Amino acid sequence: MKCDPNLYRAAPPSLAVKPRLIRHLFLPPLIIALMIGLGFIGFWTSEHFGIRSLGENGQRQLELHARAVESEISKYTYLPSLLELEDSAGGNARGGTVGGIACPLGAHYLPLPTDDAPEVQDLLEELGLRQRVAGRWQYDERHLCHSPQERLYFEREWQEGLLPVQGVGEATLEQYRRFSQAVGAASRAARFTMPQFAALDAKTGLAPAHQALDAMTFEAWLQQQGLDDAHLRWYLDYCCRDDYGAGTARVSAWAGIHYFAGRRGTAANSEQNAVLTWPQGNGFLVDVNETGELLLSALLGRLEIVGKSSSGVIEGVDEQEGN
Ligand SMILES: Cc1cc2nc3c(=O)[nH]c(=O)nc-3n(C[C@H](O)[C@H](O)[C@H](O)COP(=O)(O)OP(=O)(O)OC[C@H]3O[C@@H](n4cnc5c(N)ncnc54)[C@H](O)[C@@H]3O)c2cc1C
Repeated sequence: MKCDPNLYRAAPPSLAVKPRLIRHLFLPPLIIALMIGLGFIGFWTSEHFGIRSLGENGQRQLELHARAVESEISKYTYLPSLLELEDSAGGNARGGTVGGIACPLGAHYLPLPTDDAPEVQDLLEELGLRQRVAGRWQYDERHLCHSPQERLYFEREWQEGLLPVQGVGEATLEQYRRFSQAVGAASRAARFTMPQFAALDAKTGLAPAHQALDAMTFEAWLQQQGLDDAHLRWYLDYCCRDDYGAGTARVSAWAGIHYFAGRRGTAANSEQNAVLTWPQGNGFLVDVNETGELLLSALLGRLEIVGKSSSGVIEGVDEQEGN
């Protein structure tokens, strides 16, 4: 075949070189970019679908695991929800008998709950101890403790209440007044509630004023306030032993003041700061709440709260025969 020399001549030399130059300069990066792009698409696709299939696989395994746990649990006919170390339930609120007469062994009364304790209010309503009459709350008269609640044999005479007011000097009465004012001042500095967590700040917890009170004994605080009257001190020590099982030298100033500042419950048919009580003390509340799900003489070894759920792990249970 004969070559037409005009063919070469038709295109000017500069134009004949350019496509080659373009090919050499731009084609390799273009190919590399294309490869990177394809590689990225491939990676994204496999990651996307891979994660989805992993998720589906995990979900299937979880379902299988849940079914296995359910079948394990269903083997047990008795699953206690309450384990008690002692041979009777109730802890410090247990009741007992002396000569066949019911009596408390620790906690012996329940201060009327305020709106700070809605769960206690609901429980008392559920137990029929509290009901709304003409829009106001009333408590069962049989369990409401009316005055005279306590009496004291002092200087060969009986007097109402535990704080000796008859047969004491003016200086003693003045210290009673000052104590009441100091409790009022402490309550104004930070609120005392029952339960106290109703007034806790989510971030800071116990108010700084309360933290300071919690860091010293009630006795040290009384000393700081110049409250050293023997009758007042006896009464306060009695109150602390009665409610906390330890005297003013052991309980914190916070606990000591809380005894007087944290009780504000009232009802249509009660006095201010009234209490409910029963022959067996708070053992009454233990008895009415006792259910068949209780396992006695059983030690709870470890309890783990998993996330926000109430499910837990219980181990180290000394099982009783037959349970
Ligand atoms: C002398 C005294 C008088 C009181 N008076 C009053 C009062 O009049 N009014 C009032 O409202 N409050 C009063 N209180 C306070 C009241 O008793 C307590 O606030 C209340 O009993 C606390 O209940 P709780 O269940 O949290 O603890 P607790 O009563 O201490 O009960 C805890 C229970 O858990 C069990 N236990 C502990 N560890 C384990 C474990 N590892 N495994 C299984 N079981 C375990 C214990 O045996 C116990 O039965 C008084 C306290 C005392 C000490």
